This record gives sequence, structure tokens and C-alpha cells, in this order.
Amino acid sequence: MFYFDWTYFLIIPGLLLGMWAQHKVNSAYQEYSRVGTRLGRPASEVVAELLRRNGNSVVRVGRVGGQLTDHYDPGKELLNLSEGVYGSGSVAALGIAAHEAGHAMQKLEGYAPLKLRTAAVPVVNIGSRTSTPLFLLGLVFSWQPLVYIGIALFSLSVLFSLITLPVEFDASNRAIRMLTEGGYVTESERSGVKAVLNAAALTYVASAVTSILSLLRLLMIARSRDRD
Ligand SMILES: [Zn+2]
Repeated sequence: MFYFDWTYFLIIPGLLLGMWAQHKVNSAYQEYSRVGTRLGRPASEVVAELLRRNGNSVVRVGRVGGQLTDHYDPGKELLNLSEGVYGSGSVAALGIAAHEAGHAMQKLEGYAPLKLRTAAVPVVNIGSRTSTPLFLLGLVFSWQPLVYIGIALFSLSVLFSLITLPVEFDASNRAIRMLTEGGYVTESERSGVKAVLNAAALTYVASAVTSILSLLRLLMIARSRDRD
């Protein structure tokens, strides 16, 4: 994370998993953004209809620059679709847009893990800004309590990456369910949607694994100082 020692190798499996997941996301997106759906309707239109059909009338659909920058903003009740998704009727575009609609439905239905995740954001932000400086100061001044405070603050972001997992898996499940129920995708299109969304989910698994390994690393560094 900040200085190099042998414990750094502990994180490497997480980083490799992350790179592999990113590669899978890119290749699934490349592949399925070229496969059109039978209906051929743009994702922006489909997603607006999905939301209405599922009783969500508060969310507006907008456009955002960049590639794969699609996200749902719960504060503004805005579902932002990226340039490549907004007007596209591809299998990938429908899957990505419906996944974001899944998040909007989670908010509407008060899905508990999402509430927990949203509530945790301010605390996690403070934790991630302060954990490394405190940990380092603790090491520099050989003051172990500060080292462990740094680790405790870091573990907040580990928890956050773990709460993110059910939220993301659930949004993808909702996406597939809504697209299937509404007859927006055929059987074979649905497996394309799954391939894209599973690859995206893997990136969240990789960051959770990496943050757990980073936590272990900090603990090992702290324990070796205990013995000194
Ligand atoms: Zn998501």
C-alpha cells in the first residue's frame, strides 16, 4: 500500500484477480455490445419502461460521458447511462441499464443491505482517509495503540467492500428478472446479459478479496512490531 516489504506479496492474488475480472468485463462488454436484441429498442427507453412497470415513477433516466460509467444516483433519483449504453439496443446495454434499475428498485423497496451501505459511506470515507496516516505515524513513533487504531479504521472499508457484494448481486438478479418478466430478452439474450453482469460482479469480489488481504497485511506488520 505505501511501503514495500515482503508482506506486499500477500496482496498479489487479489490484484491478479482484479486484473482478470477487469479483463472479463471488457471482453464481455466488447462481445455483447455487438450483439443486438430481438426488440432492438434503446436501453434508455427499455429501462424507463422497466422502472414504470415495476412501480418506480420517481427515477429519471439521464446520460453521462465515458465508457461503463453507468450508475444510479439515489440522492438525485437519477439513473445515468453512459454514451455507449444510452442509445444502444445491444444485449450488453440492456443488461447494464437494467442492473442500474435494479439499484433504483432496491432504494424504492428499502432493501436493507443498500440502506446499510448508504449509511456507512460517510464513516467509511473518514476511515479510508485517516487509516493509513495513523497507521504510519504509529509505526514511525513506535506507538502500537495508534497502529491498531489505523487498522480498525481500515477494517471499515473492508466491511464496506463486503456489504457491497449482496447489493451488487441482488441488483443483477433483479435486472435479469425484470428483463425476463417483461419479455425484453430471449433465452439466448439472457445468457449474454448474465455473462456481462457476472463479469462485473467479479470485479466487486476482487476488490473485497484485495481489501481483506490488505487488512491481513497490516495485521502482520503490526504483529511483527509487537514482537520487536
Ligand atoms: Zn451495481
